[in-house]
Parts: sequence; structure tokens; C-alpha cells
Amino acid sequence: MTLFERDAAHIAGTYARYPLEITGGEGSLLYGADGGEYIDFTAGIGVNIFGTRDPAWLAAVTEQLGKFQHTSNLYYTEPAIRLAEELCRRTGAGKVFFSNSGAEANECAIKAARLYGEATGRYRILTLEWSFHGRTLATLAATGQERFHRHFNPLPDGFVTVAANDIDALRAAVLKEDPVALMLETVRGEGGVLPLDPEFLSAAAELCRERDMLLIIDEVQTGNGRTGALYSYQKRGLEPDIVTTAKGLGGGLPIGATLFWGRTEGLFTPGSHGSTFGGNPVACAGAYNIVQRLDEKLFAEVEEKSAYIKRELASSPGVTEVRGEGLMLGVSTRRSADAVINECLRRGLLVLKAGDSVRLLPPLNIPGELLERGVSILKECTLK
Ligand SMILES: *Cc1c(COP(=O)(O)O)cnc(C)c1O
Repeated sequence: MTLFERDAAHIAGTYARYPLEITGGEGSLLYGADGGEYIDFTAGIGVNIFGTRDPAWLAAVTEQLGKFQHTSNLYYTEPAIRLAEELCRRTGAGKVFFSNSGAEANECAIKAARLYGEATGRYRILTLEWSFHGRTLATLAATGQERFHRHFNPLPDGFVTVAANDIDALRAAVLKEDPVALMLETVRGEGGVLPLDPEFLSAAAELCRERDMLLIIDEVQTGNGRTGALYSYQKRGLEPDIVTTAKGLGGGLPIGATLFWGRTEGLFTPGSHGSTFGGNPVACAGAYNIVQRLDEKLFAEVEEKSAYIKRELASSPGVTEVRGEGLMLGVSTRRSADAVINECLRRGLLVLKAGDSVRLLPPLNIPGELLERGVSILKECTLK
């Protein structure tokens, strides 16, 4: 049996994989079992912030692995505390809860909103069309895309999807639903790399303040340097009550984090939430190494690379639009996104899909030469 057949025989059929087995990699290059070398514009869906086998991250992770790999949250461990201190120092948040994925980080935010609303009898959370918040039942209900809901009803109660970039629709929903929170992505990633209008965002934040609603920002994809800032809300001068993050935070190991400010800092008490694996010392040691290296110099580099990609693609006849920020870019093409992605794969470039667009999430430290080669392959693949 081939590897593909063994996968089909015994792995649950949730993924439509590309016909490629990855056997290794180095930085922004991945090696295939077919002997091919692939330029990586996916970073494991925005996870491998500094590429594959980044030496400094690897050293931090293996050092911790050599001490102890896990203890549970019954005891104190330094790596999680050190990481929480660093995240709070860099964001002004007061408290952090660690979990293992984006969906779990959002579940924690949803539970916090329920706690916050308890006194006033409010529990509904507004989310936006074309958003994506995860695959668990509650985060699926929060996800503003019908196609993910099909077959899984009834979903948990208390989530209302509202049109994005329409402040009147948001105001009307607030009056009708009396919600406790608004949850949003500043750039909707899985929905197609769709940035929210700045005017809508600031009006929405203002509305949350007026109505004593929590502003929850899902930075699972936009966070950790991806958009040219530690977190994308910081560039926008927003003051969220809760921020969730995951993907790039771990640099490759599973970790999620939910950050709390002000009135949400004290919501959880012993027993009200928890996780067996959350705050895992190996994942936290790696994440601490990553976060420390996300600095202004790197953000400037991210913006430069972003401008280069946008410039190159804007002049390409096969490209109709480029959206997004930093190294989180969505590319609309004349050919179907699937055709472009498959052609890129054949030519040694890995790219992602989001909505009907090609999505690029390369490692933030991708060398200029690989970036240029990758963009040139992409340009050619958008032409029929
Ligand atoms: C990927 C993603 C999630 C879900 O993260 P998992 O780690 O797959 O659970 C949630 N929100 C956003 C914005 C994402 O991009």
C-alpha cells in the first residue's frame, strides 16, 4: 500500500490533502518524499513563524524537553509563567489562560463572556459574516459561514452573525439581541483574507464601550508578527477586553492563549476553567523564544516583504486583487484558486487557499531570494 492509501484506510476522512508527503525541511524550504524541494508560503498555516527547524526555537524547545515534558496544572512551572509575563509586558494585558489551539483559546473567551454577562442576564455574542473561529461546536456557532454549520445542528445557542463593515446592521443587532460581546478578526483569514474597514472597527469598538459589551479580538491568525505588529489590534489603537491567539505563537508546537484586560482579568476562579495540556512547558519554552524575537526590526522586514509581494503581483495580468497586511495576503486570480494552487505545487511552491482566493502565509524570516523565486512561480501560475 502507498502512504496515501494507508492514510485513506485509517485516518478519519476530514482532510482533502494535496498529493505530497513532507519528509523534512529547513527554514522556508520543505522536502518531499518525491525528492522535490518546495518553497514554503504556508508556514504550516501560519504556525512556523521562523520556518522549519529554526535553530534558536529548536534549542529552547529541546532544552526544556531535557528537563521535563509535562507536569499538569496541579503544580507551578516556570516556562508558562515566563511566557505569560512576556505577553502581558508586550500588550498591557493583566492575565493569560493557556490552552492548546485556536478553537480552545476562543472557547475560553466565550466562557469568559458568559461569566461577564451573568450579572446582567446577557449571554449572546455577535460575530461577523465570513469569520472563522474554530471547529468545536461553540466556535463553529461563532463562525459566520453557513457552509461550516451544515449537518451539525443544533449548534450551541447564543451566537448571532452580523454583516461585516456595516455599522448600522451592527447597531440594529445590538438593540435586538442585547449581546454581552462582539467577537471579530481584524482581517478575516479563512474567510478569504478580508480586512475590516478601519471606520467600522473603531465604531464597533465605541459601540462596545457604550453598551458595556466585551470586545473580543481573535488574533489566532493575525497575531504574533504576521501582520507586521505583535498583534494586529495594536497597529489600530484598539483597546480590546480579550484577545485570543494560537497558530504562530508556538512556532510549531500546539499552544493557544487567551489574554484578559481590566474587567475581564478576574472572571475565572479555581475550577471554572482548565486544561490538562494547557501551559505545557515545552510549548511555552518555544513560544517564549518566538515572542522575544518578534520586534520592530522584524516587523519592518515583514512590511518590506509585504510591499514587495503586493508590488510584484499588482503588475501581474493573472492577478485581479491583492488584500491583506504584512505576510498575511489574499490573492484573487483570473484562473480558479484551485488551478493556481495545484500548478504551484507542481512547480515547487506551496500556497494556501482562503475563500476563493490564494492565501500566502510564508515564514516571517523567509530569505529574499526564496521569496523572489516563490513570487515569480506564483505569477507564472496565475497565467493560463
Ligand atoms: C485557525 C483559526 C482558528 C482555529 O484554530 P485551531 O488551532 O485550528 O483550533 C480560530 N480562529 C482563527 C482566526 C483562525 O485562523
